[in-house]
Amino acid sequence: MVSAIILAGGKGKRMGSKVSKQYIQLKGKPILYYTLTKFINSHYIDKIILVLPKDEIEYCKENVLDKYSLKIDKIVEGGKERQDSVYNALKEVDDSEIILIHDGARPFTKNSIIEDGIKYARRYGAAAPGVTPKDTIKIIDENGFSKFTPVRNTLVAIQTPQVFKAEIIKECHKRIKEEGISVTDDTMVVERYNNKVYLYEGDYENIKVTTPEDLILAEKLI
Ligand code: C5P
Repeated sequence: MVSAIILAGGKGKRMGSKVSKQYIQLKGKPILYYTLTKFINSHYIDKIILVLPKDEIEYCKENVLDKYSLKIDKIVEGGKERQDSVYNALKEVDDSEIILIHDGARPFTKNSIIEDGIKYARRYGAAAPGVTPKDTIKIIDENGFSKFTPVRNTLVAIQTPQVFKAEIIKECHKRIKEEGISVTDDTMVVERYNNKVYLYEGDYENIKVTTPEDLILAEKLI
């Protein structure tokens, strides 16, 4: 059994729009519609758990799930931070060998990325797609000066879906919650307890729609 957790529990403040970013329309349909459709149509995914803010559950049912007849298995209430949302969803997955965790705001994930993630997570326990950053990346000090510059071809910009053996991700999320440590993605959660994450080739089109400029590209990619 393979389950996918689709995270749409945030408000997307960096987008600066009135509606949460997952409901912004691309060619007449909400971003979340495209993301969910990718996973619903994948032959490799058995179950889909969608995470939403409590006050958006009814809106999402009406304007996305029912409107486009999208069948998912469970809706879970989001938490304060992304990692709280993941934790809430993981508690609801009880029968899976593999769990994918994916940003609801990434609607352009190709099938091959989903399939590769499952294959590598089965083999290595944890896997995530990534791409080489296009820009040179620097570490900045507290006064705004460059501290140092990591060599670009040793850097990877990590995307989702991030894919894990269920027992590993569940145990690590439980431990990190007990420790009270904050993270921005799920690979960081398992790394903290010495699990290696296999990084495989992602896709520059697999963008997370985050700021208004991303919408211009997203419209083109649709
Ligand atoms: O904030 P960020 O861009 O990292 O969010 C990535 C994904 O996590 C988004 O799809 C967002 O809806 C989700 N999220 C969540 N619960 C939160 C915050 C973010 O499910 N509390």
